[in-house]
Amino acid sequence: MTSTEISDGIIGYNSPFTVLPDPQIAAKIASSYKLASREYKPENSTVKIRDGVVFGKGSILIGGPCSVETEEQLAATVKGVKKCGAHMFRGGAFKPRTSPYSFQGLGIEGLKLMKKVSEEFNIPFVSEIMSEQHLPDFDRYVDMIQIGSRNMQNFDLLIKVAKLGKPILLKRGLSATLEEFLCAAEYILAAGNDQLVLCERGIRTYEQSTRNILDLNSLTLVKELSHIPIIADPSHAAGRSDIILPLSMGALAAGADGLMVEVHFRPEDALCDGRQSLTLGQFDELCKSIALRK
Ligand code: PEP
Ligand code: MN
Repeated sequence: MTSTEISDGIIGYNSPFTVLPDPQIAAKIASSYKLASREYKPENSTVKIRDGVVFGKGSILIGGPCSVETEEQLAATVKGVKKCGAHMFRGGAFKPRTSPYSFQGLGIEGLKLMKKVSEEFNIPFVSEIMSEQHLPDFDRYVDMIQIGSRNMQNFDLLIKVAKLGKPILLKRGLSATLEEFLCAAEYILAAGNDQLVLCERGIRTYEQSTRNILDLNSLTLVKELSHIPIIADPSHAAGRSDIILPLSMGALAAGADGLMVEVHFRPEDALCDGRQSLTLGQFDELCKSIALRK
């Protein structure tokens, strides 16, 4: 059968569902996502970045700047978060900014800087891809590829990134329902990549006092409906640094498999998201609170 044929309601030139490993089990699952569901796979999935950094086995903590700015900024921040106990760092080289006049990131130079700093401090990192033209660079430099909120339903990008076979961090879309989120995850699984971690980063509501609302309802439900690990990003949910600690504790209590938090060695000088970035001192406090909880 070619993928343009219609079979059992499955239509399309690029349908990844033609590779479903067990179509008979999948057919019995009522939801629009199959491989992502707990019915398909009852046991929790794990995603290994390297020895000692495994999502789905204890809390994984990711800290780092919104965007890579300079080697000094990156090295100081990464050295600091590692000392506090972070398992990975984050950093954006390609930034999806609302205004085209805002800092857009350092591009491939940023990826190279992260690779260098990652080797220097022996800590893996995650970074966001925005365009398929950068697939070879992400394949070469990055340990885990982030697909950001704005691209959660860029299905072509999801499939192409999935096919690299590298670990993926898929963030929930700004206004995506839980079902849409899990369907986006399904694209990645159906394209043959099960090295997937989800990230709840807050959704838009009428409330204006914070940037978004961290949706702990959905986070809890993901643990029920799916086997895929899910972490929380309280930084983009809050948009302000003063409530990151309680949001983090709440997310972990709700079952999150880890946290991704924005940290900057000098938040007041950050080129992007300084208002929501923790200082290294605040990040240390967060790490100590998490350790006490264990
Ligand atoms: C980010 O993590 O850098 C980011 C842009 O987040 P989001 O896609 O959740 O807005
Ligand atoms: Mn940011």
